[in-house]
Amino acid sequence: MIAVAGAFAPAQNGRSSTELHSGVTRNPNFAKLAGGYLFPEIGRRRTAYLAENPDMADRIISLGIGDTTQPIPEHILSGLVGSASKLGTKEGYSGYGAEQGMGDLRAKIAEKLYDGNIKADEVFVSDGAKCDIMRVQQVFGPGVTTAVQDPSYPVYVDTSVMMGQTGDINSETSQYDNIVYMPCTAENNFFPDIENLPRADIVYFCSPNNPTGAAATREQLEMLVKVCKERGSILVFDAAYAPFIRSEGVPKSIFEIDGAREVAIECNSFSKYAGFTGVRLGWTVVPDELTFSDGTKVRDDFNRVMTTAFNGASNIVQGGGLACLDDEGLTEINTLIDYYLENAKLLKEAMESIGYDVFGGADAPYVFVKLPDGKKSWDTFSEILEKTQVVTIPGAGFGPGGEGYLRLSAFAPRDTVIEACERLKKAMA
Ligand code: PLP
Repeated sequence: MIAVAGAFAPAQNGRSSTELHSGVTRNPNFAKLAGGYLFPEIGRRRTAYLAENPDMADRIISLGIGDTTQPIPEHILSGLVGSASKLGTKEGYSGYGAEQGMGDLRAKIAEKLYDGNIKADEVFVSDGAKCDIMRVQQVFGPGVTTAVQDPSYPVYVDTSVMMGQTGDINSETSQYDNIVYMPCTAENNFFPDIENLPRADIVYFCSPNNPTGAAATREQLEMLVKVCKERGSILVFDAAYAPFIRSEGVPKSIFEIDGAREVAIECNSFSKYAGFTGVRLGWTVVPDELTFSDGTKVRDDFNRVMTTAFNGASNIVQGGGLACLDDEGLTEINTLIDYYLENAKLLKEAMESIGYDVFGGADAPYVFVKLPDGKKSWDTFSEILEKTQVVTIPGAGFGPGGEGYLRLSAFAPRDTVIEACERLKKAMA
């Protein structure tokens, strides 16, 4: 039968005669999600502001979503260009590759970034850490309980909700039922009192952290691994900002901690290392020793997700990844990161100079500003946008623990950071 849309459609199977909807029930987990994903919401508010103030368009400075701005350096770029060119030759052409990534890239990641603590076949190359977090969730399924740092990168909570691991959001606490929120604020030096929090099956932990900029010390990570091991939890460690760590002795990977191989997965990415946010390349390490309660290997199930629902990262992009890990590439990465760390320092100093308590910004590209008591972060976001045309991110967007804070991102061209500092100093003093 031909579907007839609009006012003349006959009622079918209880469906409205005036609108033609599908007959498919919406996944109820999606209905639980509170509002849109944070970063599009920031974009929406910025667009709404510009619609009302079109003459301000040229003045907007974004210290918002944390996207890289500096061009890809020469040697790394030559890796991308070289592998693209190879595709135009008979000898160099390649089609589908291994879903887990090119063998030489897996081996190089293991060698250059994990100092031999990890084997090549424990590294799964992907199109980025965000996508891998959802893949990790697919491995765990709906039946697990989850713990997150509060505040944290919203993807851990939102993917847990999508997977059906949570209850509804509590409108009073802004927390989802069945998620353990681990407060990480200035009061506890941004490290959770994990021993005194309820157990969860899966513990997401990001260091250096987005949004707080806190990088956990070796002792703190030892404690995290110890507690996860005692409780039989799996730790999903997000190290996307690892190369920003410059403080002596602060671990860049969870696998620097003894015993982590039996409890942890690590998600990582070239996005912030090398300006690959648009290029898309990441990896996840799943050690051989990590098992489920029935003794089966987590790695085997992760491999199953990768081979079933992913077809390997782009061969062009993996050429860029190989170049990143050459000595020249690693030097270029360091130079890029120095640039953003200098931006972070400027932002931190500017806010401190007008009396704010400021955290992060030393081993991380994020500066986390404590607002005066009682000031709400979304209100401050709007106030700053209106007074200075600087786009920031309200701490509350990263979870209820972020209320009362504002995140400034150091991913911006230097001249705009200097200008933003001047405007913030004038308007927010
Ligand atoms: N993990 C954290 C903590 C992030 O802040 C981000 C991006 O901002 C990602 C992962 C996403 O990484 P990717 O670009 O590789 O998907």
